[in-house]
Amino acid sequence: MAEKTDIKSVLREELVGQLDKWREPAYRADQVLRWVYEKQAGSFEEMSNLPANLRQKLAETFELNAVHALKTRHATDTTEKFLFQLRDHSLVETVLIPATPGLTSSSDRHTVCVSTQVGCAFACKFCASGLEGVKRNLSAAEIVDQVWHVRKLTGEKVNNIVVMGMGEPLANYDNLMRALKVLNAPWGLGIGARKITVSTVGLVPRIKQLAEEPMQLRLAVSLHGATDEVRERIMPVNKKYPLKELLAACDFYVNTKRRMMTFEYILIADVNDSLEQAQKLGGIAKRLRAKVNLIPYNPVEGLLWRRPERDRCKMFQHVLMQHGVASTLRTEKGTDINAACGQLRLQHEKANEQTPVS
Ligand code: SAH
Repeated sequence: MAEKTDIKSVLREELVGQLDKWREPAYRADQVLRWVYEKQAGSFEEMSNLPANLRQKLAETFELNAVHALKTRHATDTTEKFLFQLRDHSLVETVLIPATPGLTSSSDRHTVCVSTQVGCAFACKFCASGLEGVKRNLSAAEIVDQVWHVRKLTGEKVNNIVVMGMGEPLANYDNLMRALKVLNAPWGLGIGARKITVSTVGLVPRIKQLAEEPMQLRLAVSLHGATDEVRERIMPVNKKYPLKELLAACDFYVNTKRRMMTFEYILIADVNDSLEQAQKLGGIAKRLRAKVNLIPYNPVEGLLWRRPERDRCKMFQHVLMQHGVASTLRTEKGTDINAACGQLRLQHEKANEQTPVS
C-alpha cells in the first residue's frame, strides 16, 4: 500500500481535490480542517459529523500526527521546551516563549520557536545544533505539527512564530513555505504573516526569493560579525556569502517588501564585542534601517567561548544607540532548561548513549 500523506502538510485546495475524487462536496474539506486545526482532533475517528466511511477513507489515506512529544521542560521564567520525536526517531526541539520583547514588537504573549531541520549543515561556531551536521530536512507537516502540539499540550493560543530553532530554514525552502502557508491560513492555525519571523544564516539567493513571496513575513538575519574577518571566524557560511553580498540581499528584501528587518547579533567575549564592531554594526543597521537584537552568548558544553560582562554588552548597545539604531539586549530566557539551540537534544542523545554497566 502507498505511504500515507501527512494531513498537516496538505493545503485546503488539495484536500478539496482529494475529496472531489471521492465524490465528496467541498464543505467536507472545511469540516475536516476544522477538526484538525480548531478542535485539535487526535484521530479521524473523533470527527463525528463525518460519515463513517469517509472517516475510514481519511484514516487510510492520511496520517494525522507527524511528531510525538517525548518530553517537556519548564524553566523558572515559564519558558517551556519540548523535545519531539519524528517517525524515523529523529529528535527536534521546539520552545514556547511567553513574552519576547526582543523578537516581536507586539505585546502578544506567546511565541513558538520552531525547528526546520534535524541538525544543521552550517556549523556556526557558537551553536549546538550544528555540532553533528545535518541529518535531513523536516517535512512541512513536521514543522506545522510542532506548533500544533505545543498549542494542544499547553492550551495556549500561539500568536507569534519565530523560525529560529534547529536548522537553517532557507535551506529547506519549499517545505518551509508550505508549512508557513498552513500556519498562516485562516483554515489552518491562523497566525498572521507579520507575526512570523524567518531567521537565516544569510543564504543570499534565498533571501531574494523570499522577498518575492506574497506573504509579508519578517526577516531576521544572524549577523554576529560586522566585518568579514570577524564574521568568518564565527560563521563559515560567510566565505560563501560575504557581507557585501549579504547586505545587498538585505537591501533588496527591505526595498521590495517595504518592511523593517532585524539583525541578530550574539555577543561573544573578545570575539565580536569590540566597540569597533559596534560602530560598524551601527553603520550597517542604520543604512538598512534595521533593528538589532543583541543576544549575550549562551555557553554550550564543549564550546570554548564566553559571554561578555553585562556592562560590556550595555556599552556595545550604547554605540548602536548613538547611531540612532533601535536595539534590544535580550534578557536571557530559558537558560536553566538549555533552551538555547540544540542543547536539549544533545543532552538527550548523550544520556541515551550511556549504556548501563551491570
Ligand atoms: N539558521 C538560522 C536559524 C537558527 S536560529 C539562523 O542562523 O538564523 C539562530 C539563532 O539562535 C542565533 O541568531 C541566535 O539568536 C540563537 N543562538 C544559537 N546558539 C546560541 C548560543 N549559543 N547563544 C545564544 N544564542 C544562540
